[in-house]
Amino acid sequence: MSGRLANDLNKVLIVGGGIAGMAAAIRLREAGVEQIEMIDVDPQWRVYGTGITLSTLTMRALCDLGFRDEILAHGFAHNRVSMRTSAGKILNVVESPSVFADGTPSEGGILRPVLHKMMSERVLGYDIKVRLGLTVEKAEQDEDGVSVTFTDGSTGRYDFVIGADGLFSKMRELVFPDTPKPTFTGQACWRVLFDRPDDFDHCHMYMGKMVKAGFNPCAPDKMYMFVLEHVPGNPRRSQDELVSILQELTADFEGEAGELIRSVKSGSQIVYRPLESILIDGDWYCGRILLIGDAVHATTPHLGSGAGMAVEDAIVLVDELKKTSVLEVALQNFMDRRLPRGKAVVGNSLRIGDLEMAGAPMSEIGPLFGQSLQMIAQPY
Ligand SMILES: Cc1cc2nc3c(=O)[nH]c(=O)nc-3n(C[C@H](O)[C@H](O)[C@H](O)COP(=O)(O)OP(=O)(O)OC[C@H]3O[C@@H](n4cnc5c(N)ncnc54)[C@H](O)[C@@H]3O)c2cc1C
Repeated sequence: MSGRLANDLNKVLIVGGGIAGMAAAIRLREAGVEQIEMIDVDPQWRVYGTGITLSTLTMRALCDLGFRDEILAHGFAHNRVSMRTSAGKILNVVESPSVFADGTPSEGGILRPVLHKMMSERVLGYDIKVRLGLTVEKAEQDEDGVSVTFTDGSTGRYDFVIGADGLFSKMRELVFPDTPKPTFTGQACWRVLFDRPDDFDHCHMYMGKMVKAGFNPCAPDKMYMFVLEHVPGNPRRSQDELVSILQELTADFEGEAGELIRSVKSGSQIVYRPLESILIDGDWYCGRILLIGDAVHATTPHLGSGAGMAVEDAIVLVDELKKTSVLEVALQNFMDRRLPRGKAVVGNSLRIGDLEMAGAPMSEIGPLFGQSLQMIAQPY
């Protein structure tokens, strides 16, 4: 347990049991908050089964939250990216120095269900009350607290409510009804899981004619491939046509990467997702209700940092709540730290995506990418 809160937030409701919500629950419990309830709309509390990249930002945030050993055991940590032609010829190898005093590699990957299991076991182990298959119907606040009515008809009164219900946040609609909706960025992300050959012990990026494809280790025996595609008009695609479209996009890939992609058959698990983003450029709180995570700063995967940003929100929130007994002051200090970071991560990710869609050469994308990597390596 790492220090207690200065304010009298004894009863907290967290709406959304994703990465942001679970991180907040863990951090608040560690700061001594006794009554924490978390709800999730999904009755099975599921996540879809592919890998995510642990950028330096995401790795640091998860390690700071206490998951270092689990990541090293069940995920994959490395500190290298090799850039290759679509035939596999090495163009460049970029080594990133560790940001950790003990030299733990500061990049890597993890399977999303593994991360979910690690975090949800910690939440349940901390005796946090989790209710599934419901959401918030109504939230009315006064000076002393928030009265919530849930969709199952139950009600509750809380000192503080955290909305961590993701990109299509209902809490955002309730608290900030005039905020614009998430917007489609123009790109879609493909992800496919593979068994990990021994030589894929770091991230391999292949520069194809139509797309770039990255292979990132995300478990001792698994890696996932990610491809970003420019899809103007955001066409609807059925699961049945995904294999043939992926094969067309990567037709010029040869060698090991080409063989792996050609082993993808109908029935293989392919996760295809058009990218949408949002950044609330103003306060993320109203009175005693605060929104965190994708609900207020959903980014694209270009910097592999969305999950880490969600965890950082939780860490910074509790950090600021410990410093002052005045909630408004804590939340304003939280905003002073989080809004510039959110703008930088979402802004640079979108700019990199825009350059990719415009067909900009690596000489133009590279410097922005390099500067962005330096920015996310800075502590929050
Ligand atoms: C294609 C893609 C690839 C990505 N790759 C990476 C990556 O490599 N590395 C990285 O760091 N980040 C990555 N991200 C970003 C990362 O997934 C998100 O930033 C992160 O999951 C945000 O966490 P969150 O808890 O805010 O939202 P979510 O993870 O979306 O969790 C929201 C939770 O709220 C629940 N919920 C939804 N609506 C309600 C409601 N009305 N009431 C109650 N509960 C509700 C949901 O069931 C869910 O459990 C990627 C995102 C995308 C789209």
